[in-house]
Amino acid sequence: MERKRVVIVGGGYAGVQALKILAASGECDVVLIDQHPYHYLQTEAYELIANECSMTRVMIDLVALCLSYGDNVTYIKDTIREVDYEAKHIIGNTSGHSYDYLLLCTGSRTAYNGGTQGLREHSHGVKTLQSALSFKQQFEQRLYSRLESEGGWCSEPFNIVIGGGGLSGVEIAAEMAHYIRIFHRDNTLTCDNIHIFLIIPHETVLEGMEEYLIKHATKRLIQLGVNIINHSRITSVEEHALVLNETEAVCFDFMIFTGGIVASTLTAGMKVAKNKKSQLIVDEYMRVGECEGVFAAGDIAQLHDPEGKMVPPTAQGAEASGISAAVNILALIQGKPMVRSNIRLKGMMIALGGGYASISLLGWIRFSGLIGYTIKGIIMRGYRYLLHRQCAKGLKRMPQNKRKCRIGF
Ligand SMILES: Cc1cc2nc3c(=O)[nH]c(=O)nc-3n(C[C@H](O)[C@H](O)[C@H](O)COP(=O)(O)OP(=O)(O)OC[C@H]3O[C@@H](n4cnc5c(N)ncnc54)[C@H](O)[C@@H]3O)c2cc1C
Repeated sequence: MERKRVVIVGGGYAGVQALKILAASGECDVVLIDQHPYHYLQTEAYELIANECSMTRVMIDLVALCLSYGDNVTYIKDTIREVDYEAKHIIGNTSGHSYDYLLLCTGSRTAYNGGTQGLREHSHGVKTLQSALSFKQQFEQRLYSRLESEGGWCSEPFNIVIGGGGLSGVEIAAEMAHYIRIFHRDNTLTCDNIHIFLIIPHETVLEGMEEYLIKHATKRLIQLGVNIINHSRITSVEEHALVLNETEAVCFDFMIFTGGIVASTLTAGMKVAKNKKSQLIVDEYMRVGECEGVFAAGDIAQLHDPEGKMVPPTAQGAEASGISAAVNILALIQGKPMVRSNIRLKGMMIALGGGYASISLLGWIRFSGLIGYTIKGIIMRGYRYLLHRQCAKGLKRMPQNKRKCRIGF
């Protein structure tokens, strides 16, 4: 029987889990296409921003990972622009790629609220590794310039504004507040006029999450000196000022926007069922209904639990849906019945700056503080360790001359 060619587009949380299952089966040829040669660990972005780890801690080498699975797995660096599901062909910036089965895992991007004038131009983000690095460098550069211009005395306030009170907004606000605390503690420059404003549209941060997490996150943010401005929408942004609710002006030195998400740009050209966030509507087997052999997993798709309740876009949901899609692609290849997806979030873990986290797992394990941070750390490190161990196998298979320059990953 002719071997089937499965193409996975996107090596993030969903794509990497799917890759593991498809590659291990040895029953198909797998091609992983990503625009970057690494899997960016977004869930650990807060450590990068807080200067607690280097860039290499938040990336997994996709080239080595693919090599580790053997000859039936290939990595291709390309940005896919179009899907031609009639011809079973996808088109990238570099070349075209044909498939028997296609799994779309290209994730999401920040939703810049379409009409909010100036928001995209004047704010920073952390959704990609490049943006997180640029954010970190520019923030330190701005702070340095201010210190330099004022002779080590920040008489004027230095305002940092963070838009969005979801998981990433809260984690970044807490980590930056902690970073600033350390900054004050560790240097003798009297720049203690730095303020963080977290602008949220709802009554509380982490809207829709468990009460325990909301309570502890709010308490910690306040303790760290973060000013939470609730019931507020950013209606326009200029270089150093924004307008709230069309009336109130806020001056800032540095702005981060973490608002909501919309599906990756790849879905824009796809004439299939989508929701308001441009996410693909998938069935219980993770198939994109209208297109034969096409599956989608992770943030690019609208995910549901077995009871039909929507699952928020998270790394956990992405992993579970990636696994489900891969299992069903394999079932089709093997001529077996497909299995309904069973996507359930096992809990939430929120880093809240400086060795403090709030976690709620399995509906009954709840901790805040150092214990929460330690548990979160173990789970995150476990994920990274297993992938690094797999990559190490791939590095051994890499030609000697290429291996030398990849050692940093
Ligand atoms: C700061 C921050 C903190 C977070 N913290 C948590 C947390 O604590 N817990 C949690 O569960 N979730 C968290 N999330 C959410 C979580 O990171 C996402 O839900 C998750 O990354 C989605 O996984 P994915 O595989 O769908 O997409 P991604 O992980 O984003 O991967 C998508 C991949 O597709 C590639 N790609 C995109 N477009 C193309 C294209 N056109 N062609 C080729 N390749 C393409 C990208 O390069 C990328 O590698 C956080 C997110 C952020 C930003």
